Amino acid sequence: LKKKSGAYEKDAQPVNKAAVLGAGIMGGGIAYQSAYKGTPIMMKDINEPALQLGLDEAKKLLAKRVERKRMTPAQMADALNAIRPTLSYGDFGDVDLVVEAVVENPKVKGAVLAELEGQVSEDTILTSNTSTISITSLAENLKRPENFCGMHFFNPVHKMPLVEVIRGEKTSEKAIAATVAYAKKMGKTPVVVNDCPGFLVNRILFPYFGGFMSLIEHGADFQRVDKVMEKFGWPMGPAYLLDVVGMDTAEHANNVMAAGFPDRMAREGTTALNVMYKAERLGQKNKLGFYAYE
Ligand code: NAD
Repeated sequence: LKKKSGAYEKDAQPVNKAAVLGAGIMGGGIAYQSAYKGTPIMMKDINEPALQLGLDEAKKLLAKRVERKRMTPAQMADALNAIRPTLSYGDFGDVDLVVEAVVENPKVKGAVLAELEGQVSEDTILTSNTSTISITSLAENLKRPENFCGMHFFNPVHKMPLVEVIRGEKTSEKAIAATVAYAKKMGKTPVVVNDCPGFLVNRILFPYFGGFMSLIEHGADFQRVDKVMEKFGWPMGPAYLLDVVGMDTAEHANNVMAAGFPDRMAREGTTALNVMYKAERLGQKNKLGFYAYE
């Protein structure tokens, strides 16, 4: 947070073609936002149904814009054409920047990033949308760690203005500048932050989730807690927010935070979150979390 984001962009390498790995809650939103703001984007996943989910999400958001007369049907068709779903790395050779948005698992992300690096040009900037995993540690398997940084969007991507751009130990200014410029091109507000588990926002948010879990483990009613936090002024309470995030993603992220800050962060193991995750009450993604969804 030392420099204003404009200071990073002066000589930024432009992002004319992007890619996102993972077509889940975040990948679909990132593809939509990039295409809607005029940057063509490839969206890769490992199976067809997952790709379709990401595309459906982008279509739904674009259709809403048309319905509200903020976009013409022709503009919607152009934006949809700007999203290229794929199951292979075929056309990654001329991509300027990739956002990795696969599951929140350090081993999976490490392997995916190393594989990705072999498919892109030497100048391609690689970024990760990880919620909590240290960027320096994710860079360990990379041959060009200088081209890698965090690009952390918030959920839902089309509504949340903030993007954390995370500087790992070996990240170059060039990578930061390109990522800041791309975030702005997507209509977002980037902030450049240093690396640690959870970065800035989740370093605050996960202890808050920890507080919530501790309350319900001591018998508090989650719906009441949600109502109280809404009255306090938050747009939604912690139970509803966990349903939006996804219990699997939150569980993995919580474990990363617990390992990173064992003395003062949420505990690993049998938390209420862990119980929900094991019961496969994943939240909105499978229509059952703290609340049930249609
Ligand atoms: P998700 O479970 O909805 O989607 C993950 C997608 O990755 C799935 O479609 C899966 O098929 C795909 N995938 C798995 N392995 C892959 C591979 N090798 N190559 C390509 N695709 C692969 O998860 P999500 O909520 O979209 O989270 C993705 C990332 O974004 C995580 O790192 C998460 O921490 C981060 N994030 C999530 C939120 C949130 O609120 N859910 C917010 C900010 C950041």
